[in-house]
Amino acid sequence: MSNRTVDNHSPGDFGERPLSPGEIRQISKKFREKDPWEVLRWGAEQFGKSMVLACSFGYEDVALVHMLHRVAPETDIFYLDTDLLFPETYETRDRLAKALDKTFIRVRPEYSLEEQAKLWGEELWKRDANACCGIRKVNPLRRFLKGYSAWCTGIRREQSPTRAHTEVVEWDHQFGLLKLNPLAYWSAKEVWAYIREHNIPYNPMHDRRYPSIGCVPCTRQVQPGEDSRAGRWSGMDKTECGLHPSGEIKDRR
Ligand code: SF4
Repeated sequence: MSNRTVDNHSPGDFGERPLSPGEIRQISKKFREKDPWEVLRWGAEQFGKSMVLACSFGYEDVALVHMLHRVAPETDIFYLDTDLLFPETYETRDRLAKALDKTFIRVRPEYSLEEQAKLWGEELWKRDANACCGIRKVNPLRRFLKGYSAWCTGIRREQSPTRAHTEVVEWDHQFGLLKLNPLAYWSAKEVWAYIREHNIPYNPMHDRRYPSIGCVPCTRQVQPGEDSRAGRWSGMDKTECGLHPSGEIKDRR
């Protein structure tokens, strides 16, 4: 197995020269024409146990988990448990775990909801959603990814204008490792066709006009004609939790 890493990478010495930005662009271009599982297979061959996949149990991610299971079933898969996820999300986790006989790594925030309320006040998400996402998502992810050389996500170009330039393979400047987005060029229709073809468990909220599902306080149904992420942080000047790809949110005590 050939293992390579990129410049400025700290965890792990892979014994070969690092990938240059130009090589990353070339690899990404090559994989635009290939199936998403080919990207995952390449990542697993390059990075082995130093690659990890992020799963929110949304429809893109359950498809990606299934693809990974076909090509590299030993790869770690994690989810960010903010303690504020929908019951349907936990149920989807359990159904998928059973279907694939896979354990998902649970990544937790440093602070419980009670501790957060004591330090920053009740229902921080209503007053400062960026700070709340920083505490419950971005900072836990930053700590967790320190143990890996590459991470895989289910983000797609057509999900939102902020994701419209997503590449299949890119350097993640925020977290300092390679980022694989195998579904970057896939449409929602293609993802759903894959889910149906393979009978993959998915979150039933998707059938109730919840195309994008996050934490309970920050997710609502979308109305006909709204875009797929309109139900996230509705009414706020916020469209991303900060994982793709803004900077770390500082503690504001
Ligand atoms: S999505 Fe809402 S509740 Fe969840 S971490 Fe972000 S601000 Fe907090």
